[in-house]
Amino acid sequence: MDNVYIGVDVGSPNITIGAITDKGKIIKKKTVNLSRTIGDGVSFIDAIIESIYLFINDINLSIHEIESVGLGFPGTVDSKKGIIVFAPNMFFTNFEVKQILEQAFDCPIYIGQDSRVAAWGEYNAGRGENHNNFALIKLDVGIGCGIVINGLLYHGPFNTAGEFGHQLIDVDGPQCNCGRRGCLETYCGKKAIEKAGEEIKEGLKLKDIYILAQQGDDKALRITNQVVEKLGIGIVNLVNLLSLELIAIIGWINDVPDELLLNPLREFVRTHAYPAIAHKVEIIRSVLGNDAPLIGAALQDETTDY
Ligand SMILES: [Zn+2]
Repeated sequence: MDNVYIGVDVGSPNITIGAITDKGKIIKKKTVNLSRTIGDGVSFIDAIIESIYLFINDINLSIHEIESVGLGFPGTVDSKKGIIVFAPNMFFTNFEVKQILEQAFDCPIYIGQDSRVAAWGEYNAGRGENHNNFALIKLDVGIGCGIVINGLLYHGPFNTAGEFGHQLIDVDGPQCNCGRRGCLETYCGKKAIEKAGEEIKEGLKLKDIYILAQQGDDKALRITNQVVEKLGIGIVNLVNLLSLELIAIIGWINDVPDELLLNPLREFVRTHAYPAIAHKVEIIRSVLGNDAPLIGAALQDETTDY
């Protein structure tokens, strides 16, 4: 049997645990709901540990056959120190996660930020393989981004590199969760889009808004066009600054038709990016799709950190 690496994509309230080969193939995965423990960091981590043990048992392995356990968390993560600096949705502030996990498992433990480990997954097992300078953008309620530069993940001195969703679009724009105004995700985050959809009808989901837009509904089209414009501005700024060759996208891009998001985004970037890069940068759906954070979490090792 191949060497087995355990990856955990930590969300709230769901976590997904996977057994992954060193080539990034998923042997088995399972999603577990941990809502009963939300609000208490220690109980939440204990529940993650218990779930990992149950999962390993389910796939008929013993804990000694596992090479490593790697986790991807949302928020600001210090991978070197093993600390979750700030994860507002999980009530974590300066929480020493790695230390707790190391006491529970007799193998190396790696923790990373979810968008960053997703980029690491894409780099090692997806389209990033031949691209040493690229970014993976994760479209969710927030919009995260993992950046690979010269083949290494970029964290930055404050572990905030890739806060793509918090780039400033309009100083007088809507209030953002981060405390500032006018961030990109106040226009293109999932909840922001659904909030804009209330103007059409109460309770519309993101998918419904895109279906209406596909049917030619004017108001829905105005919303989906605005997403292309704002996200396009974000991507143009990113590639202009960093000279990236590839942008891979995961998240709710998989729920919406290419003609309303991916194709017009490519067109926007070709039209507005700095001319020397505009036709060179490639914009794609991630090859690993929404498994990228899980696979990347598992593939973390001592070479992962910048
Ligand atoms: Zn913000």
